Amino acid sequence: MIVGIDLGTTNSAVTIFRDGAPVLVPNSLGDVLTPSAVSVTDKGALLVGMAARERQSTHPTMTATAFKRLMGTQKKLALGRRAFSAEELSALVLGSLKADAEAWAGEPVTGAVITVPAYFNDHQRKATRRAGELAGLKVERLVNEPTAAALGYGIHERGDREPFLVFDLGGGTFDVSIVEVFEGVVEVRASAGDNRLGGEDFNDILTAVAREAIDPAGALARGAKASMLAEVMRAAAERTRRKLTDADEAELSFVWEGKPYSATITADAFEKAAEPLLQRLRDPVLRSLRDSNIRVDNLSEIVLVGGATRMPIVRRAVTRMFGRFPNTALHADHAVALGAAVQAGLKQRDAALQEIRLTDVCPFTLGVETGRRDTKGGIQMGIFSPIIERNTVVPASRVHYFGTLEDNQRIVRFNVYQGEARNVAENIHLDQLEVPVPPKPRGEIVVEVRFSYDPSGLLEVDIAVPATGLRQQWIVSSGEGDGSPEDLERRRAALAALKVHPRDDAVNAATLARAERCYEGFLGDHRQYIGEIITAFHEVLDRQESHAITEMRAQVESALDQLEGERFL
Ligand code: ADP
Ligand code: MG
Repeated sequence: MIVGIDLGTTNSAVTIFRDGAPVLVPNSLGDVLTPSAVSVTDKGALLVGMAARERQSTHPTMTATAFKRLMGTQKKLALGRRAFSAEELSALVLGSLKADAEAWAGEPVTGAVITVPAYFNDHQRKATRRAGELAGLKVERLVNEPTAAALGYGIHERGDREPFLVFDLGGGTFDVSIVEVFEGVVEVRASAGDNRLGGEDFNDILTAVAREAIDPAGALARGAKASMLAEVMRAAAERTRRKLTDADEAELSFVWEGKPYSATITADAFEKAAEPLLQRLRDPVLRSLRDSNIRVDNLSEIVLVGGATRMPIVRRAVTRMFGRFPNTALHADHAVALGAAVQAGLKQRDAALQEIRLTDVCPFTLGVETGRRDTKGGIQMGIFSPIIERNTVVPASRVHYFGTLEDNQRIVRFNVYQGEARNVAENIHLDQLEVPVPPKPRGEIVVEVRFSYDPSGLLEVDIAVPATGLRQQWIVSSGEGDGSPEDLERRRAALAALKVHPRDDAVNAATLARAERCYEGFLGDHRQYIGEIITAFHEVLDRQESHAITEMRAQVESALDQLEGERFL
């Protein structure tokens, strides 16, 4: 079975293609969205998903979130005594989704189609691919998120060639893409964004509004406790913001040092305070239209993606901006995952999908460094010579010819780059390749360089020297950390050896983590009460009677719901 996966910054989801349609797979808590969070317990076990997200405020140094931002870098995040790279943390999330899909469908998951932001470069794509492999998944294909969203919305099934705009506001990132479908080719014409704008920023706004009402002089948060209070208020703001999606006003309430605080926030007040954020949505939209040379009137529609577009104030801003209503047929935070399942169905040659042909584009330009002779006869290197240009439909294969620059040159060396700048130093270096050539006067020897780029993001370079008949081939790697098959195998084994909290028990772990978070957030009687609940729950868990555990868990959850309002995911 091949699954589709939306590996998000905030939330991830796994889907399968079944009976002619994409289906979201629930995790062991029954949720179709799994927080992209990993936490290590005191006993050294790993928690993934909701349980980890709940520990963010109580165990910040043991918990990692938003690691997608670090994808493709070598940076390690320390969780207790261990350090993990972003691709390893992503592998843990992918592994958890794989287990959910296997438990739900009752068959092994062999491969996955994973989505990535359209702007992800080669390093970030390869890191995503490795994360899949580390999780024991064959990564059948990476698909751009806006392309997947288009598939999710079924836009590829329409005959017209009108471009449309994908407006994706997630937890911490904002991505705008202009997508076009033509004869079954889905093409991302342009993408732009703000990688520091998302639902979290709206939480900050709500927190600020509530602070003005509750604690205008800033007396509550003093010294070391400031960050703890900020976290408590942030969690409260998240709950309030979701309530404001369905109501005209909502309470922002929390307990701090044993005392309850509360403020009523109206949708109007929220909208007014959020105006600067709403303004920031315009710029990437304008940029993407400019880059793709498309006028707003020519857009066939506006497609909403990302959980934060559920907010009415965002929907209104979008409607105002474009002068029409956006397409909201799907839950915005499910669209990408659903599209990934369509792609997985295609890979599995699902009969219902045979008619669809899908092609992607190469999201960046690939080329080599070249040089030229300056007026004084010296050679000036560092000039980027594109071979496969950005937005070329893939699979693509392009040839360029290069002559030797010096007399009696014996080696021709090609530095391979990805990027858009003319100066190679501003682009990303991928590899260095060289071939021997026979010594001749300069320019007499011509070398043929062929780049082939496939939809899975592999770049193959063939270099031929017609004068000698030499032909050489490389699969271009993205350099350090890329790793040989042995290296990958070693890391996979290391990751597999880590003790992941048992899946059957994930729901209990999430409840316990939540109870512990509440314990730290409350004081006095409330705290004592939560402490008693935790002890009782532990006792029931120790007895391992599943019926009693289920009953007790429901009691704990409802007691916590009463204390802090409904759970926020
Ligand atoms: P990402 O693509 O970053 O992983 P998602 O698309 O899942 O993220 O979006 C997460 C964001 O969506 C969070 O900031 C969350 O608060 C917001 N969100 C989810 N549901 C709602 C809702 N009902 N009302 C308002 N915001 C919501
Ligand atoms: Mg997303």
